[in-house]
Amino acid sequence: MPSDDDRAALVAQRLAAARSRLDDAARSAGRDPADVRLLLATKTMSTAVVRAAVAAGATLLGENRVQEVLAKAPDLPDGVELHLIGHLQSNKVNAALRWVACVESVDSLDLAHRLSARCEATDRELDVMVQVNVSGEASKFGVAPEDALALATEVASLPRLRLTGLMTIGARSPDDGVVRAGFARLRGLRDDLVESGVPGTGDARGLSMGMTGDAALAVAEGATIVRLGTAVFGERPPR
Ligand SMILES: *Cc1c(COP(=O)(O)O)cnc(C)c1O
Repeated sequence: MPSDDDRAALVAQRLAAARSRLDDAARSAGRDPADVRLLLATKTMSTAVVRAAVAAGATLLGENRVQEVLAKAPDLPDGVELHLIGHLQSNKVNAALRWVACVESVDSLDLAHRLSARCEATDRELDVMVQVNVSGEASKFGVAPEDALALATEVASLPRLRLTGLMTIGARSPDDGVVRAGFARLRGLRDDLVESGVPGTGDARGLSMGMTGDAALAVAEGATIVRLGTAVFGERPPR
């Protein structure tokens, strides 16, 4: 077993390498690397490992499950920004909201209503993104692309929620063209949303897309947040 120090050094090294690959991808696409944020997907990682990543410079983290937010967030330093990136049952979100700056995985009006009501009750604002299932794969959550604009404009109208963009998980395909077309679809939806002029959509410029296997394609298609787990932490043990 590697020691904690060895693990921390490895995480730091991989984080720097991942950041520099994102920078290269941005430059190749004629984009400013500063416009691409690296979100570390920390599911199944221990608090110690997550803290090592933060010590190495990670500032934006994503968790999939409320339970993991509650277990780790209290032990993270101030200033770390935490996003929820997994499918949420509406009845579970309240406990996690205290720690969360953005829910990227809003995929129903019911969930959005609950988030909005909770924010009213606790007198706060919350950033949200609408998750879109661009690939149509049955295993993936998210609203269908044809329904995305309707959901996003309704979400944008709810009190206390600030719609900051759209999120997707790329197609599981060996064909880069297929993966890239899905990301382009999300970008097109985002453009339509921002250009709609509907109140509350003006800030919805964000595109959270790209993971370890398809980050460069996502950056080429305009990702503003790329969510990396394996690239920095290595393969996750099965749950
Ligand atoms: C796990 C996860 C990631 C990171 O995936 P890797 O392939 O390990 O980089 C990104 N987004 C979501 C929603 C995830 O659940």
